[in-house]
Amino acid sequence: MSNFLESVNTNFDKAAAHTGLPEGLLNQIKACNSVYQMNFPVKIGKEYKVIEAYRVQHSQHRLPTKGGIRFSQKVNQDEVMALATLMTYKCAIVDVPFGGAKGGVKISPREYTPAQLQKITRRYTAELIRKNFIGPGIDVPAPDYGTGAREMAWILDTYMQFKGGEIDAAGCVTGKPVTQHGIRGRGEATGRGVYYGVREAVSFKDDMDKLGLTTGLAGKTVAVQGLGNVGFHAADIFQKEGDAIIVSVAEYEGAIYNEKGIDIDALMKHRKKTGSILDFPGAKNMKQRKQVLEVECDILIPAALENQIRIDNVDRVKAKIVAEAANGPVTAEAAEKLIERGVMVIPDMYINAGGVTVSYFEWLKNLSHMRFGRMEKRFNHNTYMNLVGLVERLTGKTIGAKEKDFLTRGADEIDLVRSGLEETMISSYHQIRDIKKRKKKVTDLRTAAFISALNKISSDYLALGIFP
Ligand code: GLU
Repeated sequence: MSNFLESVNTNFDKAAAHTGLPEGLLNQIKACNSVYQMNFPVKIGKEYKVIEAYRVQHSQHRLPTKGGIRFSQKVNQDEVMALATLMTYKCAIVDVPFGGAKGGVKISPREYTPAQLQKITRRYTAELIRKNFIGPGIDVPAPDYGTGAREMAWILDTYMQFKGGEIDAAGCVTGKPVTQHGIRGRGEATGRGVYYGVREAVSFKDDMDKLGLTTGLAGKTVAVQGLGNVGFHAADIFQKEGDAIIVSVAEYEGAIYNEKGIDIDALMKHRKKTGSILDFPGAKNMKQRKQVLEVECDILIPAALENQIRIDNVDRVKAKIVAEAANGPVTAEAAEKLIERGVMVIPDMYINAGGVTVSYFEWLKNLSHMRFGRMEKRFNHNTYMNLVGLVERLTGKTIGAKEKDFLTRGADEIDLVRSGLEETMISSYHQIRDIKKRKKKVTDLRTAAFISALNKISSDYLALGIFP
């Protein structure tokens, strides 16, 4: 089995062959620029534990570098390098002007109390500060597997203790709680981005004809692996806004299936009450959680970890569309097989880019020191009120209160964030699809997405005069 970084680089090489870019430039783009591996002690109870951790900056062609921090027992250098590499391409694809980075702390968060996790997070942040590996213009972490808004607040607070005088200090990390310089809509952003991206992909009739599917999300059957931050919001929004039918979901404790559909809100309540998604009324339990990948469905959304669809189970995948909500859930070899079979694989570095897109909005908010919508909301409302008033006067008719509210509302921060995300996911999909259409030899969306990224990153290098 190939490792994660090899898998990412195999995909890179496949796309690079279509670009005609000089080899030296391609090698520079591909290389991980800075790898910081650290070991630090943290006192847990009466014992000292040595914690292994990483921060990798894959490319500084644009600054700051950007990417999440993962807390997991499986963290290793290869994984963090692969994830940092994906961030570079991801940012380029969705026109987020950052280089790629990623962090990892090799711990199982379940084994620590919140106070102990806080100690570890703060010490990790201090190590990053010491080596100049964090800062609003240097490298900006965010949540990833095993971390969330709480950890980001600890990172910010630690940073402020060292660098409180920096005017833009709040932009040193994203994914913060809204009350701690965060932005509305960051929590749902990756899942919502998956929704906008898949919705766009299924809107093209010629593409759907090839898959034997109709256009539109309504009525399509969906299976979701992982109900964490990404999978939960994706499932929830596919169901509520896309009218899709969630037929199967999997979590740590197991997987369930119901061809008639699983109500995600009710399932989350059931899980809260019983501690498990299993034995959910109307659904049947599946023996192994990985069976979620093999159920009969139109769209499969692996939203957990890398290397889930591999050469040993790819032949059992029945979905017609695989949307890689996690990073690297399908190995390069397995993806080849899916593409050969005509399955549409929507690649991670595009489809899960909603998180970093909204992180970019959060960073901009921090640099501007103001909530989006604050300046124009009331002005727009007043303008629309004047227009509605004019229509009423000219027609002699009155518009109902509810309709008037709808027509005259000025945008709040959440409206602007969602609209910016929707626009990003739609326009980036068009860029990728156009490349695939134009280049006859390109048969899959991942290669097209890589080409889109390589064109943008290489032109940055060329413009900088590094590769004249
Ligand atoms: N961890 C997320 C990702 O893999 C978000 C990164 C960010 O917001 O910087 O894309």
